[in-house]
Amino acid sequence: MTDLFSKFDPLIQQRETLLATGVTDPYNLVMEKVISPTVAICNGRETILLGTYNYMGMTFDEDVIAAGKDALDKFGSGTTGSRVLNGTYQGHKECEEALKEFYAMDHAMVFSTGYQANLGIISTIAGKGDYVILDIDSHASIYDGCAMGNAEIVAFRHNDVEALEKRLKRLPPEAGKLVVLEGVYSMLGDVAPLKEMIRVSKENGAMVLVDEAHSMGFIGENGRGVAEAQGVIDDVDFIIGTFSKSVGTVGGFCVSNHPKFEILRLVCRPYVFTASLPPSVVATAATSIRKLMQGSNKRAHLWENSKVLHKGLRDLGFTLGTDEPQSAIIAVIMPDLEQGAMMWEALLEEGLYVNLARPPATPANMTLLRCSLCAEHTIEQVSEILGRFERAGKRIGIIG
Ligand code: PMP
Repeated sequence: MTDLFSKFDPLIQQRETLLATGVTDPYNLVMEKVISPTVAICNGRETILLGTYNYMGMTFDEDVIAAGKDALDKFGSGTTGSRVLNGTYQGHKECEEALKEFYAMDHAMVFSTGYQANLGIISTIAGKGDYVILDIDSHASIYDGCAMGNAEIVAFRHNDVEALEKRLKRLPPEAGKLVVLEGVYSMLGDVAPLKEMIRVSKENGAMVLVDEAHSMGFIGENGRGVAEAQGVIDDVDFIIGTFSKSVGTVGGFCVSNHPKFEILRLVCRPYVFTASLPPSVVATAATSIRKLMQGSNKRAHLWENSKVLHKGLRDLGFTLGTDEPQSAIIAVIMPDLEQGAMMWEALLEEGLYVNLARPPATPANMTLLRCSLCAEHTIEQVSEILGRFERAGKRIGIIG
């Protein structure tokens, strides 16, 4: 018998070598208690959270929590069924209404996760003989959506408008084409030149899907994302998003103005063949989305936090993923995985949690300490964070 697990041996070996250095396992941390969107207890210690996707700090919003409790009382703990059978409750419809209003679009379809939204939409709309043209640094859920479908896949260099145009021009003019982009790329926190990319896509007869997972609620005048900020949201055919970041719960969605959009509810397998979200989840999502429509003060504060942290880390001598802050994600580039893990642990000992990101999730084999800010971080917390980075960085020898 061939052990089917032997393919994982190199990874097991790498993990064992890392843990043998005595470093805490960075992928096995437990949040023992969560006090607020920005503070939790980890390893018995009060820890500032700088590695969540809780950009707008909605997880402890009073109205959001009250809506969830109320739905739990009135509709029970789960739907036990697919959206197309017994799993569409009033709350799912209200959640889709909130999304349509938030984006000012005609259609909204809620999935059980953002991962499934990408999986479902990409694999369903791009079929045999069609082409998906995607940025090489796309999220795993975009790649998996491509793998699940039957379209030809064409990747282009990250954020490179010319490369996109060249690829498009090489494709048969009559073929169906879907260009898949992200507003904010989650590893380095950089923003896509959507305006130019969408222009080039449209000139070459492609439809455009933009995953705005990391920009919803924060970027753009109404928090609709990078396409809104760059003035091109009307040219986007499909926006994909998630409830697991600024919305503060779990779930995914696609919004669109396409007149035939509703047919997807019958043909999109990751929508049909899975249970719908629990009533409490859609109730918290709908409440949160509606509150995010009035979030401009919080958006301004989050930008301020992002700028202060970016400048502070750069002044300390850390190497960052972008020259200027472009989103709420600031990536600190580590020399290698070992030093990255040591720095991650040193920060945790200081009472600061960040994400340790490593290949294959990261571009160019980089090890990153990914910091993501929250609108609920106070300016005092941000200066505390910088102090902790300085002490840990000097102790590990990442900065002088
Ligand atoms: N798209 C992007 C760009 C993401 O970063 C993520 C999650 N990190 C997803 C989609 C999937 O979202 P969810 O957590 O809702 O599955």
